[in-house]
Amino acid sequence: MKTLIKGGTVVTATDTYVGDVLVDGELVQAIGTSLESPEESTRVIDASGKLVIPGGIDVHTHLDMPFGGTYSVDDFETGTIAAAHGGTTCLVDFAIQEQGGTLREAYDTWRGKADGKAAVDYGFHIIMREYSDALGREMGAMVDEGVTSFKLFMAYPGVFYMDDGQIFRSMQIAGDIGATICMHAENGLVIDALVEQALARGNTEPRYHALTRPPEAEAEATHRAICLAEMAKVPVYIVHLSAAEALAEVTAARGRGLETFAETCPQYLFLSYDNYEEPDFGGAKYVMSPPLRDKSKQHLLWSGLKRNDLQAISTDHCPFCFNDPEGKLLGAQDFSKIPNGAPGIETRMTLTFDGGPAAGRISLNRWVELTSTSPAKIFGLFPQKGTIAPGSDADIVIFDPNVEWEIRLDNQHMRVDYNPYEGRRVRGRTETVLSRGEVIIENGDFVGQTGRGRFLKRKSRHED
Ligand SMILES: [Zn+2]
Repeated sequence: MKTLIKGGTVVTATDTYVGDVLVDGELVQAIGTSLESPEESTRVIDASGKLVIPGGIDVHTHLDMPFGGTYSVDDFETGTIAAAHGGTTCLVDFAIQEQGGTLREAYDTWRGKADGKAAVDYGFHIIMREYSDALGREMGAMVDEGVTSFKLFMAYPGVFYMDDGQIFRSMQIAGDIGATICMHAENGLVIDALVEQALARGNTEPRYHALTRPPEAEAEATHRAICLAEMAKVPVYIVHLSAAEALAEVTAARGRGLETFAETCPQYLFLSYDNYEEPDFGGAKYVMSPPLRDKSKQHLLWSGLKRNDLQAISTDHCPFCFNDPEGKLLGAQDFSKIPNGAPGIETRMTLTFDGGPAAGRISLNRWVELTSTSPAKIFGLFPQKGTIAPGSDADIVIFDPNVEWEIRLDNQHMRVDYNPYEGRRVRGRTETVLSRGEVIIENGDFVGQTGRGRFLKRKSRHED
């Protein structure tokens, strides 16, 4: 089965041109101008006036994630369908090691959650809650399975927190086996003290979530993560960077020639501390860690994206319902009990197009690079994913750059009862999506099969 995408503006990380893309089976076969379809059965899609871009890659999602007796409300079926609607064709989610459990159990459990349910392709990072020699030995076995990155936490003492010694030992092994360390960089011990003090003063509203997680707690941990990684000789990828003060640490490290990478997320580019002041507990919708920051610093994140001090935009999609006693309402009397996380898997490409190239902040090529190519390269998926080139997977999005629309709960596909961007008008919308050559979104409707998504074995840095 062949598909010919004709007359669109093809945009990759490096090039922009009007051309045709011929897809044969699951792969891109040829790119050119005036390509003719060799067979009568070839499906022809007219993309004139539209952008033809590599499918988005979101390397930070939490589908079906256990949290305090409940779960993030999108599973691998609803979450990947919502992703596809938004123009994202590949996820890297997090498999979580249980305290006292093995990495293999985490891997098996998350394969069980995703296999047979996902509508697009997916890989996993593994979250390690602790370090032991046995777990250290397992890291190599996980790399053999194609899990080539491990996430560690400097936040959440008693839950995910690792001390510096454990972090350092995990990093040393990751460096040896060609894996990458993803780091949640916030000083959790300081934050716990601030939370305890706020609650003791009776400060229980959602905004205290942000006020007890100051930018300095993120900047300090980012600095420490970079130093530990330098000593351990491993690349470090700072996840969900939100504070300009933390970005300055990444910029300085990169200036010194270190392999330091960082992502930010749309919420840190488009929402701000002001959202925590919304009435009637509305601020809880935005409780996530790190928190939303001061609006006046957002332009610094944009310039970091532009000059490559930030290399990726992911979502940290982790939805909990608002009007739900098992969701955000868990923290109605105490901000520290509000489940951390917000939905965003579906809105990333549109928001970053609207605020990025459409607003003149970054080029079209840089937009593609930040949302697809660069995360594919950092996490061992390139060139199978992350570009449109002969031999690459035909994960292709046809994106209408001219349509204007309004993000609303009633037009979203994420399985959650609010949208953090409710009522926001944006330019640009995903129209048609191919995943490995198969049309799965057609003029805005999901026409694919759940369970068709495949697990992706990612390359280690030794295989690059
Ligand atoms: Zn996360």
